[in-house]
Amino acid sequence: MLATKTFKGGVHPPEKKDTSGLKIEQMVIPDKIVVPLRQHLGAPCTATVKIGDKVKRGDKIGEAGGFVSAPVHASISGEVTAIGNFPHPTGAPAPAVVITGDGKDEPAAFTKRSDAEVNIATPQQLKDIIKEAGIVGMGGAAFPTVVKLSPPKEKKIDTLIINGAECEPYLTADHRLMLEEPIRIVRGMRLLMKALDVQRGFVAVESNKPDAYKIFSDMLQGDAKCTAVMLPVKYPQGAEKQLIKALLDREVPSGGLPMDVGALVQNVGTAAAVADAVYEGRPLYERILTVGGGGIKQPRNLRVRIGTLFSRIIEFCGGLKEGVTKILNGGPMMGIAQYTLDVPVIKGTSGILALTEAEARTCEPGPCIRCGRCIDACPMKLVPSDIVTVADLKLWDNAKQLNVLDCIECGSCAYVCPAKRHFVQSCKRGKAELAAMAQKAQAAAAAAAKK
Ligand code: SF4
Ligand code: SF4
Repeated sequence: MLATKTFKGGVHPPEKKDTSGLKIEQMVIPDKIVVPLRQHLGAPCTATVKIGDKVKRGDKIGEAGGFVSAPVHASISGEVTAIGNFPHPTGAPAPAVVITGDGKDEPAAFTKRSDAEVNIATPQQLKDIIKEAGIVGMGGAAFPTVVKLSPPKEKKIDTLIINGAECEPYLTADHRLMLEEPIRIVRGMRLLMKALDVQRGFVAVESNKPDAYKIFSDMLQGDAKCTAVMLPVKYPQGAEKQLIKALLDREVPSGGLPMDVGALVQNVGTAAAVADAVYEGRPLYERILTVGGGGIKQPRNLRVRIGTLFSRIIEFCGGLKEGVTKILNGGPMMGIAQYTLDVPVIKGTSGILALTEAEARTCEPGPCIRCGRCIDACPMKLVPSDIVTVADLKLWDNAKQLNVLDCIECGSCAYVCPAKRHFVQSCKRGKAELAAMAQKAQAAAAAAAKK
């Protein structure tokens, strides 16, 4: 099935998916891991271990800190040797548990389930397993999966989309997962559909991955509920609101969520992790990622334990070439620049890129020439040029009126802007300022109510 509809805006950056032919390799088991207690949207975890405790691979070491949260697990066996603040790939340092390996990689006692046992599991039992396994969106956003599977009663979801678009340049980890381990993905899709009680599921793949599309098309042939769909190549096709528009022709309203239009999107890696949790009893303690960019000596697709330091992974890939100007957690459009290699892989790390100066496009912003390209490129129908202007002036109420909260930080505006203005930083800042203002107002209202 070829989806011909699309979303407004978007861009066509060079794909640079040179690693798409490289099979997934197992990274050597690290001798030390740093597992952040904040790896997802929502409340951070609380450590359930203390220094000196012995742990096995898969043991829970951090308990979810609220409804929107997910537990974290040890990814190697060994001893807890530190708990404290450590560098984090999404920004400020965050609390983390450090485990020094014992070299045994001893697994915890995982509860395997047969097909018969899985078949009789109720939707609530599946959700409980997914929650305990600490599964979050693995496309980058890292939203706790069980929360997405628990919409309010009035929001009836009728369609699940398994997202295999992988529209970010350079990244090919999802592509390799689809080629090499499609059964995990299809099993996970069926489990997610059962947990949600939906009767329609799609695996959505961009047309630059025809081999992956063919695999799912063949696997799902004759399936009354599930279909593989090929989408045109356009960035950010893999953003959930854009995927829903392209595939279902439904528009998520401003400030709304996919559940408002009856849809739920999960990444292919998340679906595979759900299958592992339900059938194998394995929590989420490893993931597949792409190590690439012109500055990496031996680009690779690797299966890596959560908590492995970037420095160790880059060393495993032969080290850095001369002239690297930027290291990213994620792809070049939405990835976050790193200022140290002592940051760990987290559940949402889809790639580690080392970019040369030519690739990184680092230059100072100039004045706006009113060309309007950023407006044409914005897939959320915003006016990015005006948002940057009001953000520079710290006019946060104006930024709110310009719907900055709808910005998905895709970077399409920055990609096309001839003046190289810093849109994403401005939008992030605007969202953070508005969130802080809302929190302050809430606290003031609560204090006034107590009087
Ligand atoms: S304003 Fe936000 S959503 Fe629009 S193109 Fe720029 S980064 Fe993407
Ligand atoms: S693309 Fe850049 S130069 Fe053109 S209108 Fe937008 S901000 Fe101004």
